Amino acid sequence: MAYKARTESLLLKSLRILNTRMELTKDDRIYYLALEKGFKGEVQFDLLTDKLQSDCLILNDLLLEFNKTQFQSDTLLIYQSTIFLIDVKNNEGDYCYETDNFRVLSGKATKNPLNQLSRCKSLLQQLLENLGCNLTIEAYVVFINPEFTLYQAPTGLPFIFPTQVNSFIKKLESKSSHLNNYHKILADKLVSLHQTDSAHNQLPTYTYQQLKKGITCKTCHSFSVSVIGKNIVCGECGCEELVVFAVIRCVGEVMLLFPNRKITTNEIYEWCKVIKSKKRINRILSCHYKTVGVRQWTFFEKSE
Ligand SMILES: [Zn+2]
Repeated sequence: MAYKARTESLLLKSLRILNTRMELTKDDRIYYLALEKGFKGEVQFDLLTDKLQSDCLILNDLLLEFNKTQFQSDTLLIYQSTIFLIDVKNNEGDYCYETDNFRVLSGKATKNPLNQLSRCKSLLQQLLENLGCNLTIEAYVVFINPEFTLYQAPTGLPFIFPTQVNSFIKKLESKSSHLNNYHKILADKLVSLHQTDSAHNQLPTYTYQQLKKGITCKTCHSFSVSVIGKNIVCGECGCEELVVFAVIRCVGEVMLLFPNRKITTNEIYEWCKVIKSKKRINRILSCHYKTVGVRQWTFFEKSE
């Protein structure tokens, strides 16, 4: 089981909401879909590392910094004398290897993930030295998608191809390792250094007025939901969710997209759209958030 679980980045969460509530430009949409796909690949790899029985600590998705330079680790496995730094790629299709690029056979070039990997490894190395840790780092790119092929790749690169993922996991499984308190302190230190991503500078511009209002289905993101008793029911996929949870989800969306906006009953009433009673919204907000101010100036904040 992971010592640090993976969570979706604020950037991905924000783009997912924006994608349902506004028309993204073609480039923004491509970028958003790539993030979704990358995340899906990472989660798939987590299913494999989760089952590891060897004595290791699994730290998923760390955003670290050394010398004012940020770097990201998809999966970090701490063993007795080795740290595995793993970058998970969910590329799909036929690619051709070039020193600086991966070229899709149809022509388009994408970055060679090796460059990113060596950059992260070097920064992690320096960070660990700084922390007085001298464990060896082994860094790999794991290609998780079974539909991925890379032509003309030289042998000996730190790439784990789809057909090699199982034997890679077996290798990790059989690695002898006895962790002690030192490793746990190191893991705690790295987790404490984890930074939350700042989504806002990478998001397209949007305004509150411009975004489509209404509760979306928690499963298929459709706006075709209706309130039936205590539930929100999706007309597309039939999924049900308690009204109270749906409203809390909406508040989360507004807080994420508009961190400086004051959350009021009127605003959430407008955002949810399908709940016809302001009183009902107000009850939910009063119950689950901290009330600030009085009467018509009341707004709500996250409880501590
Ligand atoms: Zn649905």
